[in-house]
Amino acid sequence: DITHLPSTNCPDNESLLDPSDKDHLLHRSFIEPPALVERAEGVNLFLSDGRKIIDACAGAAVALIGHGNKEVHQAIVNQLQKVSYVHTQSYTTQSAEDLANLILRGSPHGLEKAFFVGSGSEAVESALKLARQYYFEKNEPERLHIVSRRQGYHGNTMTTMSISGNLARKVPFEGFSYPHTSQVSPAFAYRYMQEGETEVEYTARLLQELDDEFLRVGPHKVMAFIAEPVAGSGIGSVTPPTGYLAGVRRLCDKYGILLIFDEIMCGVGRTGTFFAFEQEGDAVPDIMTIAKGLGGGYAPISGVLVHKRIVDVLRHGSKAFNHGHTYQAHPTSCAAALAVQKIVVRDGLIARCAAMGKILESMLRTELRDCWSVGDIRGRGLFWSVEFVKNKQTKETFEPSIHFGGRVQQAAFEKGVALYPCGGTVDGKKGDHLMIAPPFIITEEELRTVCNVLREAVESQQ
Ligand code: PLP
Repeated sequence: DITHLPSTNCPDNESLLDPSDKDHLLHRSFIEPPALVERAEGVNLFLSDGRKIIDACAGAAVALIGHGNKEVHQAIVNQLQKVSYVHTQSYTTQSAEDLANLILRGSPHGLEKAFFVGSGSEAVESALKLARQYYFEKNEPERLHIVSRRQGYHGNTMTTMSISGNLARKVPFEGFSYPHTSQVSPAFAYRYMQEGETEVEYTARLLQELDDEFLRVGPHKVMAFIAEPVAGSGIGSVTPPTGYLAGVRRLCDKYGILLIFDEIMCGVGRTGTFFAFEQEGDAVPDIMTIAKGLGGGYAPISGVLVHKRIVDVLRHGSKAFNHGHTYQAHPTSCAAALAVQKIVVRDGLIARCAAMGKILESMLRTELRDCWSVGDIRGRGLFWSVEFVKNKQTKETFEPSIHFGGRVQQAAFEKGVALYPCGGTVDGKKGDHLMIAPPFIITEEELRTVCNVLREAVESQQ
């Protein structure tokens, strides 16, 4: 029904439906309108100008089973025909219950409950509020402080932005910040491991810094330490040094501080195991977040997963999580995610991700070996990034005005391959990283095309 719309703006139905009328949508940038996608299937995007693009970053590490999967479409339609929406205050749906059970049934990590919301930022906000309520109920109300890591990324809402390290995104919003927060160094060996330092020594230095920070703030005031087990959109697929996350867990235990892992990007199989932290020894979080691969892009959904010891405090205390959203555990999103995750299990896609990841790593290392601007190639599973530098020896970054990473991204796109730009800063300057995080169904031949195109795009920049 469009009768309420001003008639001058909408002369007839036809112009409302004209796909070329792109003027009223606020895009991310005013400079250039984004490409119009007409159709997406498998690993490919089909643009309105006839071009076919390999989605080598699955959007932003989202589309893990690829695009256009008919089984997921059918599951969404089935859900819509049964229940399109109910409010979680009074109701639940089978798809939400089944999704939580599929993810957490028999969890060897003690993760007991799942809370579903719409986006990654909402999940991190919810995780932080849950941590706060936990301490409120434990009668430790002074615990408000959140320690995070420089160059980490946790979202775009006010609190999640405050604890994130992407300086450029914060500039217009100074004064909007959550005040009780501070940051320590990221675990980022390529940039910050010192000459002559062993991995063990580097880990020990990072843990000492974190311990010092807890002591500086006053451990009884610290609510949580939050980190991405494998850092994503800030600095591009950075794996931690051996023993780091297990050491972080021990430090949090020492002071009774909650450990939150943000696996919005690196979770749900992306690194070759369902949770990225599973490859890091004994480092089990108290609360964690997942998102992108959960619904694989078929519907917006994210999750907060909660350890039994946190659940128990609320269960025996106030008996409720004092937080909620209208679209929490949305039935369509849960049905989509459930269908995606069933396909992942049935088709062994996480094992495939681990295997294809090894192939991708070897292709990247071979193809980009001789490129003068490639400083680092890093990642795990199908979660890889390339960092570009002006000087390989000194690791000096390019001047931001050169937009080196952006230019490589553009050149690759023109040759039919989409890559994801990571937006983090390195020593106060915008870093140049591009991420390769394709759907898990990508073939070896498609990976070869991606790597060839990336090399050509890099070589085309002088
Ligand atoms: N946390 C991490 C680790 C992320 O990578 C992102 C998004 O890239 C977010 C949180 C925020 O998620 P969203 O953009 O869905 O709000």
